[in-house]
Amino acid sequence: MYDLIILGGGPAGAAAAVYAARKQLKTALITSEFGGQSTVSTTIYNWIGTPEIGGAELGENLKKHVMYYKGEFLDVYEGQKVASLSKDNNIFTITTDTDKTYTSKTVLVTTGSGRRKLECENADKYEHRGITYCASCDGPMFAGQDVVVIGGGNAGFESAAQLLAYCKSVTLLHRSDTFKADEITVKKLLTNDKFKAIKNVEILRVDGTDVPEGEISFVSLITYRDKISGSETTLPTTGIFVETGQTPNTGFLKGVVPLNEIGKVIVDPMTQKTQLEGVWAAGDATNGIYHQNNIACGDAVKALEDIYIWIQKNS
Ligand SMILES: Cc1cc2nc3c(=O)[nH]c(=O)nc-3n(C[C@H](O)[C@H](O)[C@H](O)COP(=O)(O)OP(=O)(O)OC[C@H]3O[C@@H](n4cnc5c(N)ncnc54)[C@H](O)[C@@H]3O)c2cc1C
Repeated sequence: MYDLIILGGGPAGAAAAVYAARKQLKTALITSEFGGQSTVSTTIYNWIGTPEIGGAELGENLKKHVMYYKGEFLDVYEGQKVASLSKDNNIFTITTDTDKTYTSKTVLVTTGSGRRKLECENADKYEHRGITYCASCDGPMFAGQDVVVIGGGNAGFESAAQLLAYCKSVTLLHRSDTFKADEITVKKLLTNDKFKAIKNVEILRVDGTDVPEGEISFVSLITYRDKISGSETTLPTTGIFVETGQTPNTGFLKGVVPLNEIGKVIVDPMTQKTQLEGVWAAGDATNGIYHQNNIACGDAVKALEDIYIWIQKNS
């Protein structure tokens, strides 16, 4: 039996594994794959201590750092997806999609989340070719350009605010009649001449530049329908920032660990403890408001400090 099982191998899981091994806790890390969500980014500019790094390289580095500690105190199970978690007599049992079973005194959930994808014609074709899911990560590449934000919640408006600092214009497209973002944020942005917000929009299609066969085409147009009038509009744009919400990878926790209304694990931000004794969570799987690589790592380290003390007290 392990002292600790870490679920997930993104930035949070990797940080936790390094700290756990160094604290000599008998630990297992189970993950479908290493690196986390930002491995798909061409370049990451805000991984502290590294001015620029490719997302794939960042993912490899995280894995390398974990593997450095694989051995006496750390087992790593890659390529397995956690399917269920149960607690009996203060012992946790984890099963995976490969029918493996592991037991532990404590669990740290770092299974992260996936962005809700844009659904319209050509959305798959232009993902990471102008369609992006992270304004703070990719926004500066669109400096001086006309961009579109999809989503009228706080995330959409906050992304628009960031982009307005350097983009030529920002048009926010929202599917319903009312914005979900805080009124003060909406009002402030609407005073900016470079910003426009359009409601009741159904995104129909994204189109790209015409390029010779074999070359990569990038986004150049977005077409939407006004749900009230039925009229169609095509806007020229080079960047589409999708902010329509996140889906946490926490299905296997339902009915076991308390989750919020959208499935995020509810944690105490002081300690990262969940509402089930013996389970902690960190990173994008939690109900923390801000989601970034550095935050995921920091939260995981915080959890580890707390888990270590808990194990000392309860062993
Ligand atoms: C396209 C994109 C670009 C981004 N760029 C930046 C950036 O430039 N800078 C920045 O700071 N942040 C960026 N972010 C945000 C950042 O990637 C996340 O905040 C961060 O990855 C969260 O880390 P995490 O460890 O909590 O979760 P994740 O990165 O989501 O990692 C979760 C891990 O758990 C594994 N997993 C999931 N479900 C299971 C399961 N059931 N069983 C086992 N394993 C499972 C996954 O394979 C993955 O390894 C970006 C996000 C996206 C989507």
